[in-house]
Order: sequence, then structure tokens, then C-alpha cells
Amino acid sequence: MVKTTPVTSPLLPPLEEFIPYLEQIWKSKWLTNGGTYHQQLERELSEYLGVEHLCLFANGTLALVTALQALRITGEVITTPYSFVATAHSLLWNSVKPVFVDIDPHTFNLDPDRIEEAITPATTAIMPVHCYGIPCQVEAIERIADTYGLKVIYDAAHAFGVRQGGMSVLKHGDLSVLSFHATKVFNTFEGGAIICPDAKIKQRIDYLKNFGFADETTVMAPGINGKMNEVQAAFGVLQLRHIEKARATRQRIFERYRSALAKVPGVRMLAPGADVEWNYAYCPVLIDEQKFGISRDELYDVYRARDILVRRYFYPLISEFPMYRGLPSADITRLGNAFEVSRQVLCLPIFPDLAPEKQEEIIEILLGARAD
Ligand SMILES: *Cc1c(COP(=O)(O)O)cnc(C)c1O
Repeated sequence: MVKTTPVTSPLLPPLEEFIPYLEQIWKSKWLTNGGTYHQQLERELSEYLGVEHLCLFANGTLALVTALQALRITGEVITTPYSFVATAHSLLWNSVKPVFVDIDPHTFNLDPDRIEEAITPATTAIMPVHCYGIPCQVEAIERIADTYGLKVIYDAAHAFGVRQGGMSVLKHGDLSVLSFHATKVFNTFEGGAIICPDAKIKQRIDYLKNFGFADETTVMAPGINGKMNEVQAAFGVLQLRHIEKARATRQRIFERYRSALAKVPGVRMLAPGADVEWNYAYCPVLIDEQKFGISRDELYDVYRARDILVRRYFYPLISEFPMYRGLPSADITRLGNAFEVSRQVLCLPIFPDLAPEKQEEIIEILLGARAD
């Protein structure tokens, strides 16, 4: 049987290391509702990430939906079409209208120069994404938000552990949202978190993720059940012990791709700024058919035929899906950069236990597929 190679594979510490955590949970019989592992993970993650406050969630999408609730976002929100579909879905779940704005073709993030023209009297917030963990132009976005009195909620699902100028990127905006899904750099099987700037907003979010309960008999708001359980939280605590090593391995894999592929005609690679401590979450390459000789989709098929499951993140654009494509802002002619990138991008496998021989095979396939 041929073993398939996925684009990513979850960080899984040795099973025997997890057993004592499970024994502890069984012994305490405290399975969810802010148990000791939940408290410990909130503490340790805040410390590791260098943020003040953090609220754990059952998954990143619930965290996004709740972040919008917590800030009482209504009307229209400016966001990127170049992301995972949950970014815009979280707006629809709040009956908010997404307004898509084009990306910067170098960072793949929302282009701040295009935001102002999309602001209307109904605009209440901006929801940018730190795509692939590359920081958005946070200062420019903050300036616009301040000028127009808008909130900023970052979908930071890819930005776990990313720092810029020595500071966590998660500290920008009114709230930032992480995902700990199995495919992400740090996972709790499913999971997520909201990074909060102060204790007051954390308190509100803690109510909201627990049906709105403030105490046994007081319900403050129409909250949801967004709680992370003890098994997830314990797994997070354990995984945090392995995260630095995993990051170093990812970096080595990424650097190898870069040295082998960055100068190949028709291939463009992403380069985080010199002041960015990146998490090496993804390895996107852009394939320019004219110069590379074959199209991105043809290269995708070459990999698939060899059982290497490269992914076209993000294709199609969110704005191309049926529930969004009727919006005026979904017009492809206004989203030219995002459209172009979505037709060229291919994410190569990158995860800590990717075997070096497998990586060499992935590189050779790309080099061999090129047609002069
Ligand atoms: C993974 C992801 C989400 C959703 O997170 P889940 O934990 O899977 O619900 C949201 N936005 C982006 C950009 C993502 O990559």
C-alpha cells in the first residue's frame, strides 16, 4: 500500500505522556466547566503567548462568533475573501453583512489602502486575517479603525506564537481569535481561544461561552455553549511542553523548501518580514503558469497522483461560495489580487514529523514537473 502524505499532520505527543493527565481527570471526575486543566491552560497559554488574558473555547469558529457577540457587532464588517470560510461564516451567524476587500499580493492579507473606500455608514468593524501567520499591517488598520470608530477583530487562527518586533501579534485589535483545530500548529483536537485586552471583556466572554451564566441564578446575556472540556485542555497543557521543538522542526523544513525552491522560475514563496518571529505554519508557493510551464492545478494533480495531498489554501475565494457571491463586494473585478493568488497558490506539506526523504521527494516532484 502506498502511504499518503497529508499537507499537515497533528502534533501528537507520545500517548504514554497523556495517560497521567487522563488519570487525573478520572480521579477528580471534573470533566468540563472551567476545571483545573482549563484554568492551567489559560494561564500557561497567556504566558507562552505573551498576552494578558485569554478565554478558551471548544473550537475557533465558536470563538469567532462569540467575539463578534461580545463587541455587539452589527451592520457591515470589512473582511478578506482570502481565508478559510469560517471567517465570513462567523459574520453571517451574527446577521452581519461581510464586505470583501482585496488583499496585498505580497502578504496575502487585507490591503489597508483598499479599506477606506469600502466603509459605509453601516460599517462597525474590520475583521482581518493574519493569513498563514504573516502579520497584517496592524498599524495602518488601527489608524483607519480609530479614524472611523470601528472595532477590529483579528482572525488569528494561523498566528499562534507569532511575534513582531518582540511583541505578540495577538495583542493588536480589540480581540484576536485563535484556532486549536487538529490541523493547526498547536491543537487540542478541536479548540480555540479569544485573546482579550482586559479582565472586564474576558469576564463578559466567559459569561457568553457558558450560556450567559454569571452565577447559579443569574443569566446576563443569551450566551452559547462554547466551553473547552478537561480532556482537550489537558492535551493542550501537555502539547505546550512540545511546542518549541515542533516550531524549530517546522522552521528547518521551511528553510529547506526555501533554499530548494525560492529561485525556481515561476515559483514565488512567502517571506515574512525580518522583524517577524514566525510559526512556520504553512508553506504556500505561487505557481505562475507562464514561467513555470504548467498550471497550479496540473502540479496539484501531479502530487495527487503520487499520493501527496498538497492543498489549494485558499481556493476558491470565500466570496465565490453561493451564500456570498451575490454581494456587491464579491465582484471578482474588485478582488483581482485575491483571485490571482487563489489560482496560483499551493500549500506544500509542512509538519514536525515530515520525513526528510519525503520532503526531498516533494521538492524533486516540483522541480521535475516544471516544463521549459
Ligand atoms: C481553522 C480556521 C478557522 C476555524 O477554526 P476551527 O477551530 O476549525 O473552528 C477560522 N479561520 C481560519 C483562518 C482558520 O484557518
